[in-house]
Amino acid sequence: MAYIKINQDKVNQSNVKALIDLCPFNAFDYIDAYLSINAACKMCKLCITKGPEGVCEWVETRKPEIDKSAYRGWVVLIEHHDGIIHPVGFELIGKARELAAKTDEPVMALLLGHQVREMAAELLTYGVDAVHVYDDPRLEPFNVEIHTRLVESFFKQRQVNIILVGGTTLGRTFAPRIAARLKTGLTADCTMLDVTKEGDLLQIRPAFGGNIMAKIHTPAHRPQLATIRYKMFERPTFSTPSGKIIVESMPEVDWSTGIKRLSIKPKPAVGDIADADVIIAVGRAFKTKKDLALIEPLQKRLDAMVACTRPLIENGWFDPRRQIGLSGRTVKPRLIINLGISGAVQYIEGMKGAELIISVNTDPDNKLFDISHYAIVGDVYEVLPALNRLLDDLVEEQT
Ligand SMILES: Cc1cc2nc3c(=O)[nH]c(=O)nc-3n(C[C@H](O)[C@H](O)[C@H](O)COP(=O)(O)OP(=O)(O)OC[C@H]3O[C@@H](n4cnc5c(N)ncnc54)[C@H](O)[C@@H]3O)c2cc1C
Repeated sequence: MAYIKINQDKVNQSNVKALIDLCPFNAFDYIDAYLSINAACKMCKLCITKGPEGVCEWVETRKPEIDKSAYRGWVVLIEHHDGIIHPVGFELIGKARELAAKTDEPVMALLLGHQVREMAAELLTYGVDAVHVYDDPRLEPFNVEIHTRLVESFFKQRQVNIILVGGTTLGRTFAPRIAARLKTGLTADCTMLDVTKEGDLLQIRPAFGGNIMAKIHTPAHRPQLATIRYKMFERPTFSTPSGKIIVESMPEVDWSTGIKRLSIKPKPAVGDIADADVIIAVGRAFKTKKDLALIEPLQKRLDAMVACTRPLIENGWFDPRRQIGLSGRTVKPRLIINLGISGAVQYIEGMKGAELIISVNTDPDNKLFDISHYAIVGDVYEVLPALNRLLDDLVEEQT
């Protein structure tokens, strides 16, 4: 790592103007006789090599070395509601077990709540080596301030290598706080994970609006912390429990909180497309909201959930929870039918795990066709009625 240091004692009225004029990125601010570098700096070093002597200086910093071998084990933080474990926890345990085998590290689950023994036993059946449990009436309902203090205390007592958290609403609130307390980094919303021989977690996620997949590496800090979206990994199969449940004694933490739960207002249930077996996904090919009626017969026959691309959410045609993609839900249905969708990377990232993909598009070069099992080149306004007629005939034949 390196940065450009400004030696303020060498800045004066005559050289500051030369420096500002020299910078091609307008990266200098000179306010109240104080020179600073702003976010436009591209570290081109022109100010050092061609600028007034001694004003700007290149400073290399070295991170303190850490003994990575002292940090061992993967911990999955378990989210649960009303006695039910959020399935992302099982998916993360499965992935952690697969990757921890490469470096021969144990996999643990961390569970906080009240009367959570049954859930702890269930976690053992997914092959974790240990479930660490904090069980106390004060841990219900979830309170991010108190839970963070406990989790901080847990990780400060042991040197764990990797912590995985589900990229849910709760996980996204919780994980940054844990990262800050443990003074480590956090890679949010990973879509893939891997690990090196040295135990460095490779955290892979879309970046720059989904145009590239960034591989993020945390070589100089431990523990390594990542949130991972729901439905990115397979739920592991059951295994005979061989791990153990470890009930942790309550540490001395501050139980005060500024959070007061006044009431709970559940959002109207819309059904979660992430759990759907069959999805009909619609895109901008549909010219008006009324035209969506075309999909109803097919939807009924297949008992499908309807999902959509982002522009249809922006049009106000659907509840935002119906959006597939990077800024929407990740889905993994047994069947998805894409109707008039261009296949932008932000959309494909959210559905490429579907078992069977059928796409309809007028454009023969449609990007979704590359990942589809069946591609229909055609107009949705013609294909859908034809498909409905075909299904009617088939049903008639069978009766
Ligand atoms: C940071 C960021 C995050 C994003 N996140 C998401 C996300 O999570 N989900 C998402 O969906 N998008 C997301 N987007 C938007 C994304 O880039 C695309 O703009 C969007 O997915 C396009 O939606 P679409 O395919 O419905 O529309 P279009 O791109 O307009 O495509 C319409 C398609 O329909 C076809 N078509 C037109 N008429 C017919 C017809 N009559 N019959 C058959 N086919 C027809 C066309 O050939 C075309 O392929 C994001 C963008 C950004 C910048």
